Amino acid sequence: MKKITLILAGLIFFLSVAPTPVHSNSRASIPDDAQITDFLNHHPLLVESGASVLDVYFQGEALVINLDQYILPQGEFDEDIFTQLQADLDKAFDINRRFMTTFKVEGQTLDHWGQPMPVFEDLIKPPEILDSTRSGPLSGVKVALSPGHGLYWNEYYGEWWWQRSEFWGIREDTLNSEIMRYVQFALINQGAMVIQLRQFNPNAGIGVSGYPTWQENSRQYAIAAGLPATIYDGSSTNYNSDIRTRPYMANYYGADIFLSLHNNGWDGTLTGTETYYDHDNNPWSLYLAYSVHNRIISTIKGQYDLDWWSRGVKKSYDAYGEINYAQMPAILIELAFMDTFYPDNTYLHDEAFKIITAKAIVAGICDFRGVTCQDISVVPPELNHRYYLPRIMR
Ligand SMILES: [Zn+2]
Repeated sequence: MKKITLILAGLIFFLSVAPTPVHSNSRASIPDDAQITDFLNHHPLLVESGASVLDVYFQGEALVINLDQYILPQGEFDEDIFTQLQADLDKAFDINRRFMTTFKVEGQTLDHWGQPMPVFEDLIKPPEILDSTRSGPLSGVKVALSPGHGLYWNEYYGEWWWQRSEFWGIREDTLNSEIMRYVQFALINQGAMVIQLRQFNPNAGIGVSGYPTWQENSRQYAIAAGLPATIYDGSSTNYNSDIRTRPYMANYYGADIFLSLHNNGWDGTLTGTETYYDHDNNPWSLYLAYSVHNRIISTIKGQYDLDWWSRGVKKSYDAYGEINYAQMPAILIELAFMDTFYPDNTYLHDEAFKIITAKAIVAGICDFRGVTCQDISVVPPELNHRYYLPRIMR
């Protein structure tokens, strides 16, 4: 009953004020914090509950919306409320194309208010992962690789959608995976075990989307791998559940390190690399962030462009679900700005740029582990199929 009321309230709201949804590659203008605040303060769910917006801010690709506790009349998490707010914001501002939204109540993420989290003790025994047959300085280290985004099933439109827009032939959904595939090869060449959080193999076939599986998101990958639903249905929308799938899978597999790769977008004027760590996911995340970020910057400056811009290592306060919910040291790299034609977008077209970045990321992991890695190479190792399947090994 409540669900129907909410949906009706949302529908009436849209028909009265919301612009036509944008479903194309066109770039919607970026809403500012005041527009989002105003939109929400007039939303029926806030008006009726007497709730108000405490704070709205952007950080990289993260959009954080902090509401007061009146949004939860019973004082407990209610999935329907946040599903509706997110859907309405997306329809009004096309926010899912640009941002990953984190809702908070009184400054706390929703799990503090009762949003369920997977309890891994309740799941089947965590899988054993075979070590790489290669030995090297990273032998025994399990690295989970999360290339941001990928095709997802948009349940509101009943279609497969890219998560991000294309900018002069560059789209995060595919670019992030292309770079991560190089990272994967370089890690395996140094002896590490890679836990793929999306399909990286371009020859792995066509998925349920009708597109190659390597272009699909993590959620779809987890479903195809037969993982428990708590991993891939961790949030209220498919879009947000994809974000949760990544840390949940890494936790499930007991990864030692979690790396997320993204590329940035804003208004076409920004440039450079920034690296995020979460303030309290794991105390070693800060050190991992500096290790990897410093290598990326010094490598690009030394081998590609002396003027490449470091935007710095940045602390995130639960803004990025991917690194917030990972239990191991975890970082999220925003390599370059896709929507800045030069230099960023131009560089992202260059295979050499992708490769030196991938090598730099691996060098940073070696620094983090305190080992010396020589001859870091992205030449494809002799891959055993087991590297491509995150399923239980027997
Ligand atoms: Zn991204």
